[in-house]
Amino acid sequence: MKETTLNGKVFEEIISKEQIEQIVHELSQKINQDYQGKQPIIIAVLDGAFIFAADLIRNFDFDHQFRFVKLSSYEGMESSGTIKYLLDIDLDLENQDILIIEDIVDTGITLHQYSQHLSVKKPRSIEICSLLSKPNALQHKDLHIKYCGREIEDEFVIGYGLDWDYKARHLPAIYQLRKDS
Ligand code: 5GP
Repeated sequence: MKETTLNGKVFEEIISKEQIEQIVHELSQKINQDYQGKQPIIIAVLDGAFIFAADLIRNFDFDHQFRFVKLSSYEGMESSGTIKYLLDIDLDLENQDILIIEDIVDTGITLHQYSQHLSVKKPRSIEICSLLSKPNALQHKDLHIKYCGREIEDEFVIGYGLDWDYKARHLPAIYQLRKDS
């Protein structure tokens, strides 16, 4: 088992670089099929999704616009329950197809609130693509993740864009906090 240590805590690799590449490939194939002939607005959520989004969209073969938003709900290793809009988009979204790209859905609070915020602008559709999700932590059971890379346990993870206090984003694989750590 590959391990890495951060701030004195031990993390174990749960998804390798090669497995991430495979997940990204499969997700982008599905998205390519579904968005042929459409011109969606792709919205990637900063900070964590920047690497995933960069890899994913380079496989896209349909016309689209790409934007970032910066939302924050996490403080350290815990979800704070309310989201802050640190960078939002100022676009007319009426009758547009929107695809949100996220690194991980945990409680679902962030994307539930953000989807509601977007719905007010009357888009034609809003779908979610998340590399990871933690079904056991999900509080908003009605949140539909149409494109989900991998479901994981309700444990804190780092790597491939996901940080712990701004560290570890560069790791090419996903690492999970060891339970006894
Ligand atoms: P939610 O609102 O779904 O609880 O949390 C979503 C956000 O919390 C994600 O975009 C991510 O920034 C952060 N987050 C949730 N779980 C983890 C985790 O295990 N590791 C890291 N690094 N961030 C997480």
